[in-house]
Amino acid sequence: MNVRGTVAGDIEVRSVSTSYGESDLAEVPLRLDDEDGRDRGNGGNTGNGRDVGSDGDGRNVTTVTLWNKWTESARLLEPGMELLVTDAKSEEYRGEVQYATTGDSYVVVEPGFLVNVTSIRNWVECPRLYYLNKLSGVPLNYPVVKGTLVHEVFGDLLRGRDLEESIDARVEERGLELGLLGETPESVAEDVRENAAAIEGWLEQGRLTEADSWRSEQLLISETFGIRGRADAVRRGAPVELKTGKNLKKEPRFKDKVQAACYALLLEEHGGDVDTGTLLYTKNSALDRNEETGDLTPAKDFAMGDGLLKFVVRLRNEIAAMERSGDVPTGYEADAKCEYCFEQDTCMVVSGRLDQESKAGQIGQALPAEEREYFDRFYRAIEEERREVHREYAKLWEQDAEERADDDRALIDLEFVEKRPLEGGRWELRARRTGGGTSKLREGDLVLASDGHPVRGNAELARIERIGGTEPRSADASSGQRPRDDDVLLTADEPVEVTRLDVYPSELTTDRLLVALHDCLLKGDERRKDVLFGRAEPEFDLSDEEFIDNNDAQNEAVRTAVGANDCALIHGPPGTGKTYTIARAIRAMVDRGERVLLSAFTNRAVDNALEALLEQLEDGGEVGGASQTNRNGDGEAVDVVRVGSESGVREDMEPYRLERAGDPADRVAELGDAQVVAATTATCGSRVMKEQAFDVALVDEAAQLTEPGTYAAANLAGRFVLVGDHEQLPPVVRAENDLTRSLFERLVDRYPDAGVMLDRQYRMNQRIQAFASREFYDGQLRPATPAVAGRTLDDLADVSRDALPESLRDPVAFVDVEGDDGQYTDDEEAERIADLVQTYEDAGLERSKIGVIAPFRAQVSTISNRVPEDVTVDTVDRFQGSSQEVIVVSFTATGSLEGPIFEDYRRINVALTRPKRALVLVGDSNALESDPVYRRMLEWARR
Ligand code: SF4
Repeated sequence: MNVRGTVAGDIEVRSVSTSYGESDLAEVPLRLDDEDGRDRGNGGNTGNGRDVGSDGDGRNVTTVTLWNKWTESARLLEPGMELLVTDAKSEEYRGEVQYATTGDSYVVVEPGFLVNVTSIRNWVECPRLYYLNKLSGVPLNYPVVKGTLVHEVFGDLLRGRDLEESIDARVEERGLELGLLGETPESVAEDVRENAAAIEGWLEQGRLTEADSWRSEQLLISETFGIRGRADAVRRGAPVELKTGKNLKKEPRFKDKVQAACYALLLEEHGGDVDTGTLLYTKNSALDRNEETGDLTPAKDFAMGDGLLKFVVRLRNEIAAMERSGDVPTGYEADAKCEYCFEQDTCMVVSGRLDQESKAGQIGQALPAEEREYFDRFYRAIEEERREVHREYAKLWEQDAEERADDDRALIDLEFVEKRPLEGGRWELRARRTGGGTSKLREGDLVLASDGHPVRGNAELARIERIGGTEPRSADASSGQRPRDDDVLLTADEPVEVTRLDVYPSELTTDRLLVALHDCLLKGDERRKDVLFGRAEPEFDLSDEEFIDNNDAQNEAVRTAVGANDCALIHGPPGTGKTYTIARAIRAMVDRGERVLLSAFTNRAVDNALEALLEQLEDGGEVGGASQTNRNGDGEAVDVVRVGSESGVREDMEPYRLERAGDPADRVAELGDAQVVAATTATCGSRVMKEQAFDVALVDEAAQLTEPGTYAAANLAGRFVLVGDHEQLPPVVRAENDLTRSLFERLVDRYPDAGVMLDRQYRMNQRIQAFASREFYDGQLRPATPAVAGRTLDDLADVSRDALPESLRDPVAFVDVEGDDGQYTDDEEAERIADLVQTYEDAGLERSKIGVIAPFRAQVSTISNRVPEDVTVDTVDRFQGSSQEVIVVSFTATGSLEGPIFEDYRRINVALTRPKRALVLVGDSNALESDPVYRRMLEWARR
């Protein structure tokens, strides 16, 4: 049976004499989980399909005894940590049921924390290496790129692709990276070919029968062992790992065996019985027998012993426990020899700069105390965020399919339609939605596509190419079949018969935040840090030039952005022409010969700003290569490049998108010659972008970015301009910590003189803007022109306010609804909103000009089911950045105010500032009046 629960007290480790001699044991007080695997002080089932002991009334803490080597993991435990013991035996002691490990048991510390296989591999070399890798990420260097290429070719060969065709295609795909590294396709192809020879030879040697199942790059997640990873290949159920190096010993390297053993554990959980592992050292076959002595065989098999598998789980436990405690490894934990370590220099520098103890010692001067404190604080905050991502992983098996669908985390009950092989060995998969159902999933998202369960079933990472009836963007991904509105089209490495899609909780964002934090503090410019840490005021060289002649604040904002030596802040409330101002500022910078990075949190904002910039540069515009050439004010060419994925970049910006495949020299010239490069802040943390340098980084939506998230863009430039509105949505994070406040907001508070607020809005009727202006912008927001101030529905063709009932003729109206007491939905409000939509339609308004905002996804669904499809219904978060002629807000609150819209007043600011001509608030006045801000809102709406 499996025993799972939460450590409920201190643990004693001691030695006892047994019939086998001296043995170590640890007695762990454990509060058992309930049937859902959640700690509610009850006994029951672990929820992972295996039996678990009960302790009678279920609420008592019981004792679990961990024997011998497992006491090493027991020493890591602290009260509050989660523990899982598999194959435990139960025994009754003084009337109480207790548990103990058996010879088959595994002990897993914090099983909900999924440790990556590569992390375990690094950890076994030296725990500090694991920590350093987290801080600096994977740099762009030739061995890394070559390793990736060899792996890709390996995968292709397994899928039956021709060797030469695969090498050519894969080298071509990496044109940009190879160009940045100064490599030529010929020499790289030769290098890859040398390594691939070993693979081919080995494949030939062990010519497999049809019955042998092969699988490459399989994503595996273990809910029992808390491990995840992608196995290079699985042959006859056993892991095969590829190493692009040499090993002349008979045995595989220990760290490589550890890696293969991790995959063995993962495969066993998926029903395998793994007794061997294979390491394939690709360099071995390229070595000259006359010069090298030793075992030149590339493939080395080894027996997968029980002891190794358990050792691997204990290593994994060390990582999980350290991540929970937030300790930093020193290197003393391991037997590693620093003098042989590739990372010795980095290790010493990091130790020196952060004043950390390390086996390698320290070099360099320690950062000032406030910077070290800041680093520690944000390091912890990012790791907390990572744990939240891991909680999302755990939900993959803790929640059942319906729960996940209700939470918008999955599309379930899909009907598999077809699979089609694509060029390059990938697959196009098509599935059909059988029910309605909304979901967070969008085109371009990476998802877990499975034949029923994302962890226990056959699952694969896939990309959504299309949801609904629009044609896919990629020609490669288009199928002969006519797409249907309820179809989902995916691309994946393996042909999974998809019936379910789950949101894939990616750690990439947290990984990049950590690297951006490290780069800013340890590699960043000292002057920049003086400003960030309040040791120096930002400086400006302001010119008298007039950039915008009809809006003083916008003109001032451009002057400040252009004249900033360190940083500038542009505060743009709703509808104030922020995008135009950004474009004008960039144009001015370009005119001065500067290289500019245009960035934002979302692809949408990057594309919008880029579009505005292109309009400004349009005079003399001329089409160039993949990066389009435009002209600046002096008629000089301006190369503009958009860096992003095909699915992320808007279709009309596609001509500007940087192609990564092709001739390395051409690709690198396209990027390197571009005077304006546009990319999301997430992309700014990529290996390719980190190689770029700019005079200035202009970051839109900066109030939605965490501090390290902002550094990802700012680190690449000599100075930065942040544009945003901290009175609208805050950074998108899961954890509640320092990450919830943006750098933009902190700097606006710290350096009010470095900022300019755009104070004239071009969107709303004056009556609509009044409340937001007073409540959020100190009454400073005003209509840009009398025409804006006087906007009403009467201005629209065929619409007459007289045709509306009296109560809706004012630009702001309130509809009082008693509500039906639902927690996340309100049918009564939904009904009233459907009536309102009809009323506006009867008055001549097109339905597509109405937007409905609701606080919960469930209410979004409830309303969507009652209004015609062309009415946009969504949550506040999805409405940020857009506007509509008429906005209806559903508050979905009866009695009291709960939910995200009410927790943060900034959300209501976003909701109330979306409409241009009419705003209708629908809610229960009793609930709304219970809060002072909403009471004032009602007074305004009812006036
Ligand atoms: S230099 Fe030493 S302490 Fe640092 S990572 Fe390498 S082996 Fe570990």
